[in-house]
Amino acid sequence: MPELPEVETVRRTIEPHVVGRRIASVEVRERRLRRPVSADFAERLVGRRIHSVARRAKYLLLDVDDHPPHPAPTGGSADDGRLRWVVHLGMSGRFCVGEPPDLPHVHVVVALDDGTRLWFRDPRRFGAMFVTDRAADLGTIGVEPLGGVFDGEMLWRETRRHRRVAIKNLVMDQRIVAGVGNIYANEALFDAGVRPSRRAGRVTRAEAGRIAAAVRSVLARAIASGGSSLLDYRDAEGNRGAFQESFSVYEREGEACPRCGAPVRRSVIGARGTFWCAACQR
Ligand code: ZN
Repeated sequence: MPELPEVETVRRTIEPHVVGRRIASVEVRERRLRRPVSADFAERLVGRRIHSVARRAKYLLLDVDDHPPHPAPTGGSADDGRLRWVVHLGMSGRFCVGEPPDLPHVHVVVALDDGTRLWFRDPRRFGAMFVTDRAADLGTIGVEPLGGVFDGEMLWRETRRHRRVAIKNLVMDQRIVAGVGNIYANEALFDAGVRPSRRAGRVTRAEAGRIAAAVRSVLARAIASGGSSLLDYRDAEGNRGAFQESFSVYEREGEACPRCGAPVRRSVIGARGTFWCAACQR
């Protein structure tokens, strides 16, 4: 499943191809995504210019102008002044630049005014694609882990409010901090030296600081590596990420801990595979 670094990598690789371009045509081949593609999706986008590509949690947000050259049937003034084309990759989604591949599961193809094409392929159809002018349409999302609000003090306050929750589940709670999935929670807790099963109420203030710093560090390093290519993740230009080669513990059960050499252990927390070192993480 793409996590924050993978979505951010897609954002960065798609941005230079689309900003300033006008949307020429939209072809929807399959509407049955996790959230069905609405009947007016195409007509709400055609003719609009793309101003920017942002990311919030694991959503890609393509800001488009609200004044297409010809009147749109369902325009809409924005509650925050912005009309957005929202893309979520779900479990298996790819959002790419170029000619769509001759494969099943290419659900949406968009052509821009310079001939550039964008395509969305999602075999498992857990992704989403919609146009909205309401920020609330994204649901309740916690703070950005790479933003200015998330730090050790904030995480420590959350550990006091959720004392009985395993710290790994707290770090992965999207309502608290958004975009940290299983891979990067495992890696960050290893870096911080905190055992994933530890109850949040037993995490010290200093440890919360180390965990928050480790979350930020591991996400930043993963973005710098183009994300982690597990299964079929690729960036918008079809390139694989490289961060999976830097995993310390994730999917390394039985291998030597990079810090102490003890075998990496695997357990299950919150139904997710959890990887840790019994010597380095307390
Ligand atoms: Zn170790």
